[in-house]
Amino acid sequence: MIIRQAAFENMNGKRHLKGALHCHSSRSDGDSSAEEVVSRYYRDGFDFIALTDHFRYNRESPVPHLPITVIPAAEGGADINDGLGHGFRCYHTVLLGKNDETNGFAQGERIPTGNDLSPTGKITCAEDYQPYLDMIHEKGNITFYCHPEWSSTPARLFENMKGDFAMEIRNTDCVHSCNMDRDCPYWDEVLGQGKRLWGVAVDDIHRLNMADRSWVMVGADNNVSDIVDALASGAFYSSFGPSIYDFYVEDGKAHIVCDTVNRIEFMADRHPTSVFRDPNGVTEAEFNLNDSYFYIRACVTDSYGRSAWTNPIFLD
Ligand SMILES: [Zn+2]
Ligand SMILES: [Zn+2]
Repeated sequence: MIIRQAAFENMNGKRHLKGALHCHSSRSDGDSSAEEVVSRYYRDGFDFIALTDHFRYNRESPVPHLPITVIPAAEGGADINDGLGHGFRCYHTVLLGKNDETNGFAQGERIPTGNDLSPTGKITCAEDYQPYLDMIHEKGNITFYCHPEWSSTPARLFENMKGDFAMEIRNTDCVHSCNMDRDCPYWDEVLGQGKRLWGVAVDDIHRLNMADRSWVMVGADNNVSDIVDALASGAFYSSFGPSIYDFYVEDGKAHIVCDTVNRIEFMADRHPTSVFRDPNGVTEAEFNLNDSYFYIRACVTDSYGRSAWTNPIFLD
């Protein structure tokens, strides 16, 4: 029996859609107008974009003459007061909605902060933040958890959040501005606890010259509803370079097919796994699974050090 990761099911020769899920404009703290941001991603070949200005919901394309799909979206969040009295911690959440009346927010509407919804104004743990997430979900939006390393949140501070479909595993702005490139270990931490969470790569651009450096590739038709459904069901992979063409499990082995790369890693329950290296380049690899694994995922890296990640296949 073949278990194929959802990004590669039912593609029938279709190409994946390239998308930017986390972008800021001058409507919040970006350096460029919403028109410039969306136009830039369109010129770079993106099929869809979510404008996620802080606490400001965007439903409409600022450049309606350009054929790029705009996903209704915003970035919300809360500051964390964990009682230690020092340092900075926060929860940031990107919300994505379908393009109809069900996502609950109007064009340009200010969305509350998590602190606004707390009776004391304080958020000390995931449980304090959950009513905020619940409110967003009840309005018909899906959510992902942003930049855990930049937010200075150990996994224990977000592992009990309910309802996120994904978390960020690469954030261009955090990598380039702060050298924070260690979000993936958080992902394996929560996956290793038996939680099902997809991984998204995003730019989180605040400067236009950081555009088109990390993205998702989605198996969907090019409309908001299909894209949001595909994201929620894990029918995508993430990249800042290579393409991935297939990822599946058959007869106790995981298989991946991708662009020519020099390193392929299979990750399972944080268990030490083999890393396949070939300086001449490989385009596929397979890996023997252990019966005890809860999930298997793969990461491929090319000669420039650029990676792409599959979402996990859950093996239970
Ligand atoms: Zn953020
Ligand atoms: Zn952001």
